[in-house]
Amino acid sequence: MEKTLVVIKPDGVQRNLIGEIIRRFEQSGLKLVALKMMQADENLVEKHYTIDPEWVEKVGKKSIESYKKKGLTPPNDDPIALGKDVLGRLKKYITFGPVVPMVWQGSQAVEMVRKICGSTEPLSALLGTIRGDYTPESYQLADGDERAIRNLVHASGSAEEAEKEIELWFEKKEIMEYRLFRDSIIYDKEWDV
Ligand code: ADP
Ligand code: MG
Repeated sequence: MEKTLVVIKPDGVQRNLIGEIIRRFEQSGLKLVALKMMQADENLVEKHYTIDPEWVEKVGKKSIESYKKKGLTPPNDDPIALGKDVLGRLKKYITFGPVVPMVWQGSQAVEMVRKICGSTEPLSALLGTIRGDYTPESYQLADGDERAIRNLVHASGSAEEAEKEIELWFEKKEIMEYRLFRDSIIYDKEWDV
């Protein structure tokens, strides 16, 4: 069983989407094992996004590719410089107001949660995903205003990242271990025999 971190970002809280976002994960068959509301500080945001030492470059490359795919010129050709700008903007965005971090557990939880959230840029995220359904946000809008992409939620990118992120946001005692009787329908080999 995998665990993954989801954080409802300040725009998700301000848009009154906490319940709607939680509902989607709850109905997916994943199990909620930790949840709280808190104010993040810049130090936490920096630590969170530098768990993967290559994230800065990756995020820069991803933005540049997205511009090129649309036939547009990226605001900066250097992925590292671009990534550093994004990190600075994320510090302002994520610390703007309260956030709701939570931990979801289940088979393939990381992939399942990424699927429910949709891709990074809401404008190109599929309908039916959290990011695709609730905001017309795009790279161009965000970069034009020199701010972070407001995409409502964070979701861990891999199981290893998830483990480190969960450690950063939660104390061990805040993570529950319990049985959901519903889970026998999802997982038990013997359930339908
Ligand atoms: P994801 O959250 O989908 O895993 P990344 O890890 O690549 O995406 O980026 C982290 C967050 O940084 C995004 O969710 C988004 O809020 C913000 N972001 C990413 N790229 C940009 C960009 N080019 N400009 C502004 N903000 C960005
Ligand atoms: Mg990421």
